[in-house]
Amino acid sequence: MGPGESCARTPADVVTRAAQAASLSVLDREIADCFACPRLVAWREEIAAVKRASFRAQEYWGRPVPGFGAADAEIAILGLAPAAHGGNRTGRVFTGDRSGDVLFAALHRAGLANQPTSVAADDGLALRHTRIFAAVRCAPPDNKPLPVERDTCAPWLHRELGLVRPSLRVVVALGAFAWAAWWPAMAAVYRVRPPVPRPKFGHGALVRLAGVPDLLGSFHVSQQNTFTGRLTPDMLDDVFARAKRQAGLA
Ligand code: SF4
Repeated sequence: MGPGESCARTPADVVTRAAQAASLSVLDREIADCFACPRLVAWREEIAAVKRASFRAQEYWGRPVPGFGAADAEIAILGLAPAAHGGNRTGRVFTGDRSGDVLFAALHRAGLANQPTSVAADDGLALRHTRIFAAVRCAPPDNKPLPVERDTCAPWLHRELGLVRPSLRVVVALGAFAWAAWWPAMAAVYRVRPPVPRPKFGHGALVRLAGVPDLLGSFHVSQQNTFTGRLTPDMLDDVFARAKRQAGLA
C-alpha cells in the first residue's frame, strides 16, 4: 500500500485537506488515505503484514481509522488512537479488541448502541446520539504517539468536531491524552481560550464553559484499567448516564 495520487502526505496536506472536507463522509475518506506520519505509516503497515497469530487468516485494514457514529451526535467520545490489532485490523474505531468490548457494552446498556458487541466493520453496529473518534488516527507503537504525530493529526480531529458542532453537547474524554487533546481542539473549533491553568483530568471530572460542549473525563477503557478494576462497568455506566444528562438526552 502506498500514497495515492491525491491524498495527505505531509502535515501541510492534512491542514489543507481537512479544511476542505465538506462532509463527514468526505472527511472519513480523506483520513483513511493519509500518509503524513512516516513512523506511523510504517508501523500500521508492518502490523498489518505480520499480524497476530489468532488473526492470521484476516486481512488487516492497516490504514488510519476514521470516526464512527451519528453525524448529528450530541455526545462525542474522544479516544487516544486505534489499537494495533483492533481498529488497525478491522478499520473501525474500538472494534475488535478488549477496550471496544467494554466500551460498546456500556454504550448498549446506556441505550446509545443497538448491540453490545463490536467485532467487525460490517457487524451491524449502529450508534445513537453518539460519535466516536480518536485524537490520533493511526495505531502508534506502545499506544504512544509522538507529540509531532499528535499535532500532525490534530486538523482531522478539529474538522470532525467542526462538522458535528451543530448538534454536539458533550465530549467524553477517555483518558488524559484525549483530555489534553480537547483544549487545542476547542480553541481551534470554538474560538474559546482554554482556562489557565487547564482543568485537571480525572474520572468524573466535568468542565462546563460557555459556548462549548461540556467536557467529561473518564478513565480509558484499556485492559490496564478494566482488568485491574480501576474502571468498572458501574463507573462507565455513571459516565454515560451523566453524558446523556449533560446532552439533554435523559
Ligand atoms: S496519525 Fe493522523 S496525520 Fe498521521 S498518518 Fe495517521 S491519519 Fe495521517
